[in-house]
Amino acid sequence: MFEELHPQDILRWAFEEYGERLVVVTSFQPTGIVTLHMLSQFMDRIPVATLDTGLLFPETYALMDELEKRFNLDLHRVQPRLNVEAQADVEGDHLWARNPDRCCFLRKTVPLRNALIGYEAWITGLRRDQSDRRGSTPIVSWDQKYGLTKLCPFATWTEDMIWTYIHAYELPYNTLHDQGFPSIGCWTCTRAVKDGEDMRGGRWSNHAKTECGIHVPNHATA
Ligand code: SF4
Repeated sequence: MFEELHPQDILRWAFEEYGERLVVVTSFQPTGIVTLHMLSQFMDRIPVATLDTGLLFPETYALMDELEKRFNLDLHRVQPRLNVEAQADVEGDHLWARNPDRCCFLRKTVPLRNALIGYEAWITGLRRDQSDRRGSTPIVSWDQKYGLTKLCPFATWTEDMIWTYIHAYELPYNTLHDQGFPSIGCWTCTRAVKDGEDMRGGRWSNHAKTECGIHVPNHATA
């Protein structure tokens, strides 16, 4: 049924089904921005969690502040237990360069698990066109990893459809996208893509890693 629905209808269904037990998790990339704009059409205050690793680009923090005001977000900036300096004391310097799976586990996966406690469904911006691994992303599924329903309302949309929407509504977006960064994470692990690379080719480019782990079942380096 969901395969045939417009994302806005899926989002409205989710709101009616889960109410205050629903949260958007976004890093304010294009799909997340479209998600927030659609939700703002019928939600006065949108619960949002974002993973603030302490290593985001200044442009990302600026966009976060702007969108928080514009969409009246109830924004939870989810931070790891240890800041970057404290993590270095425990794990050694530059963990992201030596063991990015461990770093993502500490700075993203564990904080997200804690942030989702009390919710019954989370909305993500995963799309099938983003990578081969994401090619079979379901729109609605049970998330065994975190123990709640996972919604990907834009699974069937393409990058072009997202950008058409953003430009049509003149929505703000991360200015790094205009500098060759189609996918943006921590500044320590993200570079501009080169000709011929896919849109996530600039993430963890010195490693085989392609996902931070929050969307990968059973991915952990505890
Ligand atoms: S993206 Fe890089 S710096 Fe950020 S949490 Fe993952 S490994 Fe650490």
